[in-house]
Amino acid sequence: METERREQHDWEERQYELEKKEERDRKNPLASIGNLGAYRNYGQMKEPAAPNGNLGAYHNYEQVVDELKKKEKEHPDIISVSSIGETLEGRPIEMVRITGGPEKKKGRQKKPEVLILGQTHAREYISAEVALGLVNTLADKYGKDDEITKLVDERDFYVVPVVNPDGSMRVAQEMATRGDSRWRKNARDSNRDGRLDAGEGVDLNRNFGYPLYRRIMKKNAGASTNPLAEDYRGTKPFSEPETAAIRDLVKKHDFSVSISYHSYSGLILYPLGDTKRPTKDAPVLRKLAENMRDVQPHEKYKVQQSYELYPTVGGSDEWLYRKGNMMPFTFEVYKGRSDLLGGAAGGIFDRFNPPEEEIQHHVENNVPSALYLASVADNPRQVVSTRERLTTYAKDLARYEDGVMKDDASRLKKYSGREWKELRDHASGYVARIKGKIHHGGGPKG
Ligand SMILES: [Zn+2]
Repeated sequence: METERREQHDWEERQYELEKKEERDRKNPLASIGNLGAYRNYGQMKEPAAPNGNLGAYHNYEQVVDELKKKEKEHPDIISVSSIGETLEGRPIEMVRITGGPEKKKGRQKKPEVLILGQTHAREYISAEVALGLVNTLADKYGKDDEITKLVDERDFYVVPVVNPDGSMRVAQEMATRGDSRWRKNARDSNRDGRLDAGEGVDLNRNFGYPLYRRIMKKNAGASTNPLAEDYRGTKPFSEPETAAIRDLVKKHDFSVSISYHSYSGLILYPLGDTKRPTKDAPVLRKLAENMRDVQPHEKYKVQQSYELYPTVGGSDEWLYRKGNMMPFTFEVYKGRSDLLGGAAGGIFDRFNPPEEEIQHHVENNVPSALYLASVADNPRQVVSTRERLTTYAKDLARYEDGVMKDDASRLKKYSGREWKELRDHASGYVARIKGKIHHGGGPKG
């Protein structure tokens, strides 16, 4: 929290200075282009000309699409690129499908389907690189590596490396003109003045279906109603073309597992993120996450339930999980650089993304986990026996309810005898049990 505030402050300082500089340039006609037309004066030459100027080896959205199309040309037998929708600024949201071997035969079961998402948040460029790295691994090792050939033949991969193309290009533009960017959201012009101002946009990872937890939404926790907030949730679930495109894709398919890549922290998160209450699949989700961690060749990430990180509402995983029969995960790729912690040095972009020469290292560290998850996509529940799943779930739930009851019990202590009676009339069993907890301290008896 503290870091976040400092980050915001640093950013505002820099923004202010850039605005002052632009103001000075506007007032000084010598700094402007005058009659030079397309020629650049010295000051302009110092500005990087390429749209991804300071991004180095990172790919902006247009470059990601070029890479995908190149791969499609190289491997037309297993790769096809297509658009699943269009952004607010009119860009196609490109998806790549990878599968080999025979298409489904008559009477044969459909291949298990795997969903991979990258760069929902614009500034998290490394997340697109990891998704792209997975595509390249599958494409380049197909027919050469037995395990990968088998995986591509027996699975159907759907990869959307950049869920937020407008945001990606906005970051590229800011990196080129200002040398840094904190852009996270999409290109929604909330005040409809025809311009995308700093701070506008919708947080796409708060815009998935969220009506289940009205109580949480009312308290405004985990997703803001303020259009200028970093976690602004939008006017309604799926109000944004990017989230609607993912929703429609998911509805057309039968994905059993998914990974959404974000950065940074070095975490593997499993749902749910809007309640602490464990799901009946928590033992399976946890085990899958641990197995994905165990195959990481470099840094091993920490496994936790999303809610433990911080409560969020309207995230993709919550919607994917509740949609049914699916095991969705979020990777917070890249642990971060200790020398940048505390906001002392470097920009916002550098905070969320490793130096360009380390991209390959992080691709290598995350691709094996995706391959592992795909390998169990036929039946993800196989990793935990039914008996173990049920007993672990019962224990998780008991621990959770015990926590809730303790909270409620301490809150209810202030009630008078008459109020107790009224409460008991309303919710006899539960209140009696809590009361038992207060008086005996030992939990419900009998
Ligand atoms: Zn993110």
